[in-house]
Amino acid sequence: MLPANPQNFDDLHARFAWNLPARFNIGTACSDIVAQRHPDRPAIIEFAEGQRSATSFGDLARRSTRLAAALAAHGIGRGDRIAIMVPQSADAAIVHLATYKLGAIAVPLATQFGPDAIAYRLRTSGARAFVAFGKGIARARARETGALDKLDLVAEAGAPSNKAGALETLIATGGPDFAPVDTVPDDPAMMLFTSGTTGQPKGTLHGHRVLLGHLPGIELAQNFMPQAGDVFWTPSDWAWAGGLLNALLPALCHGVPVVAALAPKFEPVWALEVMKRCAVTNVFLPPTALRMILGGGGTATEELSLRVIGTAGEALGRQTHQRAMDMFGVPVNEFYGQTECNAMLANCAALGINRPGAMGKPVPGHEVAILRPDGSHADPGESGEVAVKAPDPVQFLGYWNDEAATRAKYRDGWLLTGDSGRMDADGYFHFVGRMDDVITSSGYRIGPSEIEDCLAAHPDVEMAAVIGKPDPVRTEIVAAFVKLRDGVTGDEARKRAIAAFVKTRLSAHEYPREINFVESIPLTESGKVIRRHFRSG
Ligand code: ATP
Ligand code: MG
Repeated sequence: MLPANPQNFDDLHARFAWNLPARFNIGTACSDIVAQRHPDRPAIIEFAEGQRSATSFGDLARRSTRLAAALAAHGIGRGDRIAIMVPQSADAAIVHLATYKLGAIAVPLATQFGPDAIAYRLRTSGARAFVAFGKGIARARARETGALDKLDLVAEAGAPSNKAGALETLIATGGPDFAPVDTVPDDPAMMLFTSGTTGQPKGTLHGHRVLLGHLPGIELAQNFMPQAGDVFWTPSDWAWAGGLLNALLPALCHGVPVVAALAPKFEPVWALEVMKRCAVTNVFLPPTALRMILGGGGTATEELSLRVIGTAGEALGRQTHQRAMDMFGVPVNEFYGQTECNAMLANCAALGINRPGAMGKPVPGHEVAILRPDGSHADPGESGEVAVKAPDPVQFLGYWNDEAATRAKYRDGWLLTGDSGRMDADGYFHFVGRMDDVITSSGYRIGPSEIEDCLAAHPDVEMAAVIGKPDPVRTEIVAAFVKLRDGVTGDEARKRAIAAFVKTRLSAHEYPREINFVESIPLTESGKVIRRHFRSG
């Protein structure tokens, strides 16, 4: 946790120390410990079909303990994997907390996943239990994937629709006296799968310490959460690092109520409705969600109670940052991380750390640097690989069952992110691109995100993806795939106009020499542009 009342950012750094406790369990930290002080405070506010209903911290603590007892009675315990595919709800939080209290490993699955995605994760993790909403269980059974064969327990959350035991019954059969397992910060707590933007999603194992490791970054990006009256929401599925570790768990750990509302498909009007009706003050919105809201017509935002927007997961871009500030009238704090090592760079407008288009500055507790290929530190302005010094509590324990990949992630005591970035003279870090996405053209190293941000600011463009296309003369040329807004026709004149737009705003070497109009831009389930789709033709 950050020290109170810092004078400025340097003071914050100077006074920060990790001081990890000898014992730490995410389940008790996010329920029992808060419930001792605030038993009746709402922990989860469910919002569905216009209705709100709250589960208190006291109830969250009691119900998760009962569920842990029931799971233990089924022989499930320390180190066992429990796959969780439950939409944002009090139930989803309870299953997570019970898993941690049990010393077991949560394997969250996003609710959009289809049969193959579910089977891949159940198989890879070797899960013993699967707690899911009805559709998840139906999809797991839909094809002969054998996904459920190896499981010892399947429980259904919500109204029963399958021949699985009901989660509710399981909770009711658990006794109230289960003592949470006394975990140490390094004991494994969760296995999060990466977004799969660059290839097959990787199972990333984290210790209980990961929550403590996240707190400073999230507190900064949320302009010093907790404040009295804070209410948190994210449209991200709690299955992603973004939903779980940037939103749900830090908020609960700080006694901040979390709104549970997850639409099958993200809708800007619905998102504004959730924020309005639930008086949301703090939100984590991935850039895609933010861009969709900005493109959605801009409903009256003065009725919102927002005090800050945190965003991460992709480059936000200067233009989107400005438009979001204009629309919402609150600070937009971009931060940066990856499933393996998250929230180590952040902006914090409350401390004057707020550079549009930048990922932020190193958060207290994390040493972040730009390294050259030979491991030496790059100069300010020079691009290189973003790296984070080990040890660091926010870093993962390793890829599941893949020691070689884990080893390859580190070099000389630094975790390598695989992202290219640069630091400016004021110490702000800027994203250039994923190492694999960086375009080499006529001797320049060009990141696609800045060009995509610029393209998206063109009035005719809805979304764009930019890649490097092999070229005999220039090594690569900048090629753009552009989805036009409805009703706009894509002809050669439009291509020239769009290219000129980028040329005048960015620079002559960055404008797309090739523009292709496409019907859609493929996104990962977590809403990231899959550039490799265009690269493979
Ligand atoms: P996979 O590793 O499976 O290909 P992924 O890297 O997209 O998928 P995540 O761990 O969800 O999976 O995403 C982390 C990545 O997202 C970072 O490595 C970086 O490329 C990108 N990212 C996160 N925050 C930012 C940011 N503020 N600006 C630019 N890129 C960001
Ligand atoms: Mg990655």
